[in-house]
Amino acid sequence: MTADVLVVGSANADLVVATERRPAGGETVLAGDTRTLPGGKGANTAVAAARLGADVALLGALGDDGHGRLLLDSLRSAGVRTDLVRIVDRPTGVAYITVTPDGENAILVSPGANYALRPADVDGALSGAKVLVASLEVPLVTVEHALTAAAEAGVRTVLNLSPVAKVATGVLAALDVLVVNEHEAAWLLGTESAEPARLLELGPRSAVVTRGARGVVVVTRDGVTEVPSPQVEVVDTTGAGDAFTGALAVALARDASLADAARGAVRVAAFSVTRHGAQPSYPHSSELQ
Ligand code: ADP
Repeated sequence: MTADVLVVGSANADLVVATERRPAGGETVLAGDTRTLPGGKGANTAVAAARLGADVALLGALGDDGHGRLLLDSLRSAGVRTDLVRIVDRPTGVAYITVTPDGENAILVSPGANYALRPADVDGALSGAKVLVASLEVPLVTVEHALTAAAEAGVRTVLNLSPVAKVATGVLAALDVLVVNEHEAAWLLGTESAEPARLLELGPRSAVVTRGARGVVVVTRDGVTEVPSPQVEVVDTTGAGDAFTGALAVALARDASLADAARGAVRVAAFSVTRHGAQPSYPHSSELQ
């Protein structure tokens, strides 16, 4: 028996270091202290959802190491169920994040254990779920299998197609909600700019395009709805998209319409950008009042 919201995705240790500039090939640059933070799109989404009081499980893979224990601690203290997290014989995924004074992040991801998540791990995990949420940074075949099996089992499906990749046409055709940012939407459509309404041509029943401080656009077969974001003082936008997706999934599991779910989720995502980090920035329901 799984949780109401089953998240299939990555868990990474984010190693964040501030530097005046990035080294060129063969060069050494001295930088600031390294902060080690729990991250990864799947773990972030699960933590955001659980903080809102939902019954949430993560299906993922970690290594038997300190980074894996950091992630398990963070997931458990947010209330995420971790019985579907496999401990495998590879190092926990790591994201090496350098931040320069202009605020720009450059990120190198070493997926490690995340790439040990197999299609067979999904079997048996879906029973009882109301919503399945998947994102990439784990093998595409596993995500495709999870979405197909969920659709067959009558579980609602949400795919945050990030990092963007080409997904099988049949999988998109069975998808309930595609969530992408504007760059990912343009890449998928092969266009210069995101054209939200056209995303339904790729097959999903509905789509949401996230647009940073401008909020989101919701596309269903009934039309296009713009959902503005509350204006907030931005501290750190890391993991805002994952906060949005987690909150959207919780509302869908509680039978909200997609537009209403998006209205709630932009508030959660806006809250998250007012604090540092990804998982540490996500609000509890009580903080949203
Ligand atoms: P990603 O982080 O995945 O690239 P976005 O930048 O579109 O995606 O951010 C995801 C969502 O987070 C946005 O749709 C919005 O709801 C919220 N968000 C991001 N940046 C801001 C901001 N500066 N102010 C308020 N909300 C924001």
